[in-house]
Amino acid sequence: MMSLPKPVPAADHLTAPYWQGCLEGTLRLQLCNSCGKGRFPPGPVCPHCKAAGAEWVESSGRASVYSWIVVRHPIPAEVYGEDVPYVVALVDLDGVRMPTNIVGCAPEDVYGGMEVELSFKRVSDTLNLPQFRPLSTNA
Ligand SMILES: [Zn+2]
Repeated sequence: MMSLPKPVPAADHLTAPYWQGCLEGTLRLQLCNSCGKGRFPPGPVCPHCKAAGAEWVESSGRASVYSWIVVRHPIPAEVYGEDVPYVVALVDLDGVRMPTNIVGCAPEDVYGGMEVELSFKRVSDTLNLPQFRPLSTNA
């Protein structure tokens, strides 16, 4: 099967600190300066209190699975055909809910509330993709 390039995120002035953190092996989240709640995806205004100010903090990297699907029919097949099956999940991480992939286990082993930890996938020189894997029992 012919392999086409996968779409990659384009960092802008709001998300550049997030993606730069990923390149450095840390997952950064915005914390609202006004109400202290997390903000994801990075944005100019707090979704909770509408305040503008925020600071970047390093996440704990520990999350739990809120919901997930197993992708078995890749669209487009030319791009994702070699990846299926794979898990797309929403995880609860330090007060935010973020979309990600669950890796490091069989898709059928993922369950709601599953404890997971941060794991990066180096995609290119400019993209280090945050994913999550089952929490190591050695941690
Ligand atoms: Zn706020």
